[in-house]
Amino acid sequence: MNEQTIRTTHYRACHLCEAICGLKIETEGVQQEQRIISIKGDEHDPFSRGHICPKAIALQDMHDDPDRLKLPVKKVDGAWQQISWEQAFDEIAQIVAEIQGREGNDSLAVYAGNPNVHNYGNLTHGRMLRKALGTKQNYSATSLDQLPHHFAAYFLYGHQFLIPVPDIDRTKFMVIMGGNPLASNGSMMTVPDVKKRLKSIQERGGKFVVIDPRRTETADIADSHLFIKPGTDIFLLLGMINYMFNNERVRDGHLTNVFDGLAEVEQSVAGFSLAIVSAQTGIPANQLIDLFDAFCAQPESVFYGRMGVSVQQHGSLCQWAIQVINLLNGSVDVPGGAMVPSSAIAYVQPGEPGSGHYNLFQTRVRGLPEFGGELPVSALAEEMLTPGEGQLKALFTLAGNPVLSSPNGRQLDQALEKLDLMVSLDFYINETTQHADYILPPTAALEHDHYDIAFHRLAVRDTARFNEPVFEPEAGTKHDWEILNGLSIAIAAAKGQSLRAMPAPDILMDMGLQMGPYSKKAGSEHALNLAKLKANPHGIDLGPLKEGLLKRLCTENKRINLAVEILLSAINKIALDSGHELDFPLTLIGRRHVRSNNSWMHNYHRLVKGKPRHHCFVHSSDLNALNLVDGEEVILRSRVNEIKVQIEMSDEVMPGVVCLPHGWGHDRQGIKLEVAERHAGVSFNDVSDDQACDPVTGNAILNGIPCGLYKLN
Ligand code: SF4
Repeated sequence: MNEQTIRTTHYRACHLCEAICGLKIETEGVQQEQRIISIKGDEHDPFSRGHICPKAIALQDMHDDPDRLKLPVKKVDGAWQQISWEQAFDEIAQIVAEIQGREGNDSLAVYAGNPNVHNYGNLTHGRMLRKALGTKQNYSATSLDQLPHHFAAYFLYGHQFLIPVPDIDRTKFMVIMGGNPLASNGSMMTVPDVKKRLKSIQERGGKFVVIDPRRTETADIADSHLFIKPGTDIFLLLGMINYMFNNERVRDGHLTNVFDGLAEVEQSVAGFSLAIVSAQTGIPANQLIDLFDAFCAQPESVFYGRMGVSVQQHGSLCQWAIQVINLLNGSVDVPGGAMVPSSAIAYVQPGEPGSGHYNLFQTRVRGLPEFGGELPVSALAEEMLTPGEGQLKALFTLAGNPVLSSPNGRQLDQALEKLDLMVSLDFYINETTQHADYILPPTAALEHDHYDIAFHRLAVRDTARFNEPVFEPEAGTKHDWEILNGLSIAIAAAKGQSLRAMPAPDILMDMGLQMGPYSKKAGSEHALNLAKLKANPHGIDLGPLKEGLLKRLCTENKRINLAVEILLSAINKIALDSGHELDFPLTLIGRRHVRSNNSWMHNYHRLVKGKPRHHCFVHSSDLNALNLVDGEEVILRSRVNEIKVQIEMSDEVMPGVVCLPHGWGHDRQGIKLEVAERHAGVSFNDVSDDQACDPVTGNAILNGIPCGLYKLN
């Protein structure tokens, strides 16, 4: 047979979003001549059962993308020059040693973007770089998104990763607040084929309800949808807790005897009457009562709140309140309620780095607290721009595109230009990395192996799957973990220290599997190790979510203290909505589309073709009141900036609410993303506010931004 006609079938998970769908990828040819001829869902994957979304096909586009860097580049007189890995590591190491020797270790920051959790080499070996750099200035996309989930889990259950997820396959009643799983495919809830799973709730006689300022794709198939004024979720949540106390809806469950602080919580929420909640949220009181009663009718109910809930002023309080609602209803650690997945790779132990801590140190300029060793991204630009001792002079970015994804991106643009050194591990010259002095590109996803450390911990069913590479890496290229090993060792050496290379991530995974709950050591019939996963390329089903939180609690006294002091004090500071400022009569919210997750996905033709998806949705009543026309280009103005947007009349959004997706804005000078530039759109984060954040955690506020729409000129 001719080499070119050799066909091979590969099985691996898609790494493009949290759903980790199993793929069946067929290739033709061998080695460097190998090319993809089809990508389909893997019907034998026990978790995703053949489901995929349109993004999966774009894995091929990513692999073949002519804009993708494969070897290191250095900026010389404003132009990019290809250099060797050795030159890159040596030069970066010398500059880092010089800057940190002169300005101190904390003059250099590290930012880790969202793709880190989808590429296990970054997760396992990112710590090497942090060790070599020795800086406390660590930032990540966590504080743009999910920090409130970790915060609530840490304070209630003693570990930032002990996060109960909806047992969607057995629940009888589910509330989805500020989430659109039909577009996101689940978030902080790994749930492939979510549409079928939601419809199954209805088929077995259950219901699900969506609460959102927009009638989303998920709301369209829900049993009911309640519009809520952006930023007022905390009123509904605290009002629901109050209602449960006042109407004998607090149910004893197997965790009740380890609760502390019930009376303090009851007292703290006492002022959140139905009348106040209704006035603040815009939801009629009778609809609130119906919702609360339906939820409390059985313990197999689960309240789930996601992105829209987390990225508002009281995001951490909201995520705590959601846990409290589930706990008071006796729904936590109960089949059909909210359960903590048992991932095959065990969690770090309480007290070890990664289990969580809070406010051990703060940002220099605004005093925002660290959580788990990370500082809030909203403070990153001001830490670079504000002169004085401790000013940031250098930055490493590990994937991510904070210029488009963090608040006040234009300010970050300016800050990055002023740095003495910026190094990016990334394979694109995008809106952020164009500011770098060096870009170190790792191999693409299909060229390296992978195990989903993060997402099995959030999955609605326990499974394990190892993903072999589809392609051989090209000669001279390096995997992310190889770059991190080499760069870290070079930096340590330049600083007169010595660092040993960490083993490859698959070796670390094997060790983790053999220490985990499904190992031979733990007496599990599955006796998992790497060899067993490799022999089962579709993945191994480990069963539905399991009870056992009591044994896994990481709090010092093995109890659950509901009355988290800092949050109860925050309740006292919640202000009633006193109306909008005259210049900003509208409220901006975000939007997710199934064809987009990260900004670089806009560089693949098949994900951006068709009707533009970056228009600003405006309700017809607002269009009329403002004398605007559907399709008109207008100015969207916030406290920090203004952008030109094309408006689209849509009664999906509430009156008074405008809606724009994030991740667009590819019209900046200097980027090298040919397709994305042609579909530029505008950046949501050019108008989001870096000074607006959750006062408890510093998490960014990206939902409920005061704004106005104005005619051009
Ligand atoms: S939902 Fe789509 S993008 Fe997400 S893992 Fe599945 S196929 Fe990939």
